Amino acid sequence: MTQTVFHRARWICPVNRPPIEGGMVAVTGSRITGAGTKNDLKEADGSSVVDHGDVAILPAFTNAHTHLELSLLENRTTTGGSFVDWLRSLLCERDKLNHKDFNHAIACGLDICRKNGTGLIADISNTGRSADHLNKTLTKSVLFLEAIGLDPEKLPVCLAEFHALYDRLKIKHPFTGVAAHSPYTVSPELFSEIHALSANGFPILSVHVAESDNESEFLAGKGPLYDLMRERNFRDGDWTPPMKSPVQYMDMLGLLTRDTLCVHLVQVSDSDIELLSQRRPRICLCPRSNQKLRVGTPPVEKLFRKGLPIALGTDSLASNDDLSILKEMARIREIAPVVSPDEIIRMGTINGATALNMEKQLGSIEEGKEASLISLSVTSSSSGTLYEEIVCDGYRKEIKWINQPQ
Ligand SMILES: [Zn+2]
Repeated sequence: MTQTVFHRARWICPVNRPPIEGGMVAVTGSRITGAGTKNDLKEADGSSVVDHGDVAILPAFTNAHTHLELSLLENRTTTGGSFVDWLRSLLCERDKLNHKDFNHAIACGLDICRKNGTGLIADISNTGRSADHLNKTLTKSVLFLEAIGLDPEKLPVCLAEFHALYDRLKIKHPFTGVAAHSPYTVSPELFSEIHALSANGFPILSVHVAESDNESEFLAGKGPLYDLMRERNFRDGDWTPPMKSPVQYMDMLGLLTRDTLCVHLVQVSDSDIELLSQRRPRICLCPRSNQKLRVGTPPVEKLFRKGLPIALGTDSLASNDDLSILKEMARIREIAPVVSPDEIIRMGTINGATALNMEKQLGSIEEGKEASLISLSVTSSSSGTLYEEIVCDGYRKEIKWINQPQ
């Protein structure tokens, strides 16, 4: 019979209910079999207790949007100018990477995620190379194979290659979905094809939406993204600008649905937010990537007031200094002080798991879920200050994995 281990700590933070002072989490094998005070949990013969001391035990974090294969591009992109300057430098640097570099980048990115207490990631991949790496790690994952393409002439070839790779990846990785890069790099025809794939497979479509004002300009038929797309062989004769905001454009294409994971949502108007509140797509914000690229600040408070669940992502090291969800939480606290720390912790845990259809397995400390748990050293002596300490200072604390090798 598998032994049950009781993990005791100053604080247990189940996330789905208030923190438990002096509580324990019971873990049998790789599953959580209970959480509560000593009186709530019965120690059976053969069980053992591990006292972790002055720490808070939390569910591991969810990074709902990153690109592991870009992990070698830290400090190699232009981040002081416009969004288009950054994107041009990203594409240029990515073109220099070879097979070995991509594999090294993915391994490094996974290691950084783990050190930052992330137990579930959504990895956006253009090559599919991360499937083998993700299968070998303790980090749970959804792999989104990302499509890019505006040229209608290249669509049949592009789709054939995409289908072939997608079919191979689905065999390798149990949670393989598809992503369409953005409204400025994916044609309406390709959006439609990718959406159909998502409807018949892992049912979430990830899309970067409303990241920069350059994207809004492009959809209005102007701006520097046109030049960049021409450099990348986009032919604007094939493109009729929709003259809509990115959010409106997604809706026009029938893609602003509950099965779309909209990533970024920085350049959104009040009427866009009203549309989002009606359609209720999944939402992932990456506020520190937005800050580094100087594209603006996502309207966290307005989205929150509409009752839209927000998940958090770091995006890649091409637009962020690290892959820390705790630092994303601290940034959310800065830009939306009205949102309570316990809600922000939910953004970094259960909301991310829910955005990825993984809420039954991960994202909170509940009986039956996977024991993907971390501890964070804390000093708070009251539940009133605990979540504030985790959200504002958590990234400075020591993170340890519970029940799993470090
Ligand atoms: Zn991204």
